Amino acid sequence: MRVELINTGTELLLGHVLNTHLRFLAEALFPLGLHIARQVTVPDGPVIRDALADAATRAEIVLITGGLGPTTDDITRESVADWLGLTLRHDAEIMRAIEERFARRAIAMSPRNARQAQRPPEATVLWNHHGTAPGLYFPPMERGGPAPSPHLFLLPGPPRELQPMFTDSVRPILEKVLPPRPDSTMRSYRTAGLGESAVEELVGAPLLALGLEVGYCARPGEVDLRLIGPDAALARAEAVVVEKLGPHIVSRDSRELENIVVDLLTERGETLAVAESCTGGLLAHRVTNVPGASAVFLQGFVTYANAAKTRTLGVPAELLHAHGAVSAEVATAMAEGARAAAGTDHALATTGIAGPGGGSEAKPVGTAFIALATKLGPTIVQHHRLSRDRATFKDLATQTALDLLRRQLL
Ligand code: ATP
Repeated sequence: MRVELINTGTELLLGHVLNTHLRFLAEALFPLGLHIARQVTVPDGPVIRDALADAATRAEIVLITGGLGPTTDDITRESVADWLGLTLRHDAEIMRAIEERFARRAIAMSPRNARQAQRPPEATVLWNHHGTAPGLYFPPMERGGPAPSPHLFLLPGPPRELQPMFTDSVRPILEKVLPPRPDSTMRSYRTAGLGESAVEELVGAPLLALGLEVGYCARPGEVDLRLIGPDAALARAEAVVVEKLGPHIVSRDSRELENIVVDLLTERGETLAVAESCTGGLLAHRVTNVPGASAVFLQGFVTYANAAKTRTLGVPAELLHAHGAVSAEVATAMAEGARAAAGTDHALATTGIAGPGGGSEAKPVGTAFIALATKLGPTIVQHHRLSRDRATFKDLATQTALDLLRRQLL
């Protein structure tokens, strides 16, 4: 069944509030075999009716969020009743629930709240245990058009009210009205070290040939591969993905690179230090975001100035003078110095030119050297050309460093 979502709220279109309903509802609908086929955001006001009329030409299920409040700009209830040709009536049971809620909190109720107790008798009440505005469900009904109206759900704006209402009331209704569905699951693979088009080139055709829906989502330094389809086809896809993407696969459950690195170090009982120049502490930040990092992460050094690299990590001043701070030699010395100073099994180092200034023809903005000193073998140093935008550069440099260590630990 085709699902469309209408989010109402001028604050969403002004950019004051981030639309988290789309994400929540998309994730919550998926296990029911439903995808949101189209989403629109409209301001508070009469345009809600137009959005519904438009969605109803295509969708069998329409969810409308927001605009159920007591103020005059909250007109979702009225707009929907009007479109369906229904009349709103006062519902004594809803009124009692609202009054009790105010009484429990010892707050005087405004007469305006009485608006929230109105519903057409044809609508089912979706009780709101976290706010005053009840939701409403309208089953399909004839409106004189070619098809009956869609299943229509009106849900409150505040996420803490909408989310439990979906779980407690909307999902059980959908489970009843949905036709039996073929089993369809989603599996996703997080990959690092390849661009989006490279991932598609490697796996796109064979996965499509298995009849799967294939999607890609790229972020700095990583690409998620998303597969949707029957379990049997997903099981066959696993072999294709492993064969083609191999060590590029970071996780199968959207876990972050840093979580994987901390897990690998924990399993091996090994420790890590980091020496950072261009990433300014971001690498240590990411590692220490992982619960349990203290078992493996011993020390981070942010050595931005040359003098700090020499004093703290023992990078020889002559080396800095001869090759510059952004060089394979200095990255190597930083990693080895950090490993010795912290007494760890592994140490990562980053040095580079984040820009916007400081680049040269030989070392343009975006140049980065990433080194790994490790007990597993000789120090590894990599030369990269990363993004020219400062924030993305830092993201990519940390991503590259973590991935370098991950591949060695594998
Ligand atoms: P209320 O009774 O609070 O007026 P309502 O059902 O009328 O509820 P709105 O007035 O549209 O809902 O929104 C109430 C609040 O809920 C907004 O201020 C906003 O913070 C939040 N909200 C609304 N829509 C969304 C959304 N799509 N994503 C995240 N938050 C939202």
